[in-house]
Amino acid sequence: MKALSRSPPTGLDHRPCHTRPVSPTARDRRRRALERVGPIVVTLVAVLGLVAFAPGAEFDAARRLVGLGPGRLGAAPDVPDAGRYAFLTEVNGQPVGYDPCRPIRYEVNPAGAPDGWPDLVARSIATIEQATGLRFEDDGTTTDRDFFQRRTAALGRPLPVLIGWADASENRDLDGDVAGLGGSSPGEPSPLGRVHYVTGSVLLDQDAYARLAARPDGAVEMQGILTHELGHLVGLDHVEDPRELMNPSYVGQRGLGPGDRAGLARLGALPCG
Ligand SMILES: [Zn+2]
Repeated sequence: MKALSRSPPTGLDHRPCHTRPVSPTARDRRRRALERVGPIVVTLVAVLGLVAFAPGAEFDAARRLVGLGPGRLGAAPDVPDAGRYAFLTEVNGQPVGYDPCRPIRYEVNPAGAPDGWPDLVARSIATIEQATGLRFEDDGTTTDRDFFQRRTAALGRPLPVLIGWADASENRDLDGDVAGLGGSSPGEPSPLGRVHYVTGSVLLDQDAYARLAARPDGAVEMQGILTHELGHLVGLDHVEDPRELMNPSYVGQRGLGPGDRAGLARLGALPCG
């Protein structure tokens, strides 16, 4: 039995499984600002003027209100609400996930990766895309090893999701039988008051992957671990059920279980903006 990753710790800001709590102060400020909005006719004209000429991505949500924003990139599959699933973060009763109208940019640091890592990553990404309707965008490879401060970026643009391998000497969270870590950080609430993840990371144990790569039957498990961590990345938490890939330990699952699929479909069906 191999532990896939630890439960997301709380109160810490630098672990990939942890999702930063949304600042209530920011939400309250937004609500108060909305309450100050003037008569509806004047407001509508002002919004239309703003969204027609503002090029910034932060206006996408406002543009969508008047039918000008980017559309949903894929459709979440219609699956039965079966099995067991849980979400890492909920805000106002809604799970937090990525905006389905924006691609999830990602890059890979291949240092320490097993041979054949491009196929491994592509297959797990495709599994999550099919199960959610979300779309990923490959930003190529990188030498970046900062798995824990993914929000820091030039000009306020979130860094891409980072996928990579490390050993326990670089990251103590990979000590023992932990095979990987995964998680994302939410951004500030959108103009519509919605909270989405904006970036995140998946860190895999290079020693565990080296051992699995040497085993004839190791490919399925390598795939399963990475897909499990991508499940965390897009918003799923652990469930204690050996039929689900989001079980805390890998126990021979051959891909997504019914609850994994139901939870991923809900994350992919979240509203945009
Ligand atoms: Zn996990």
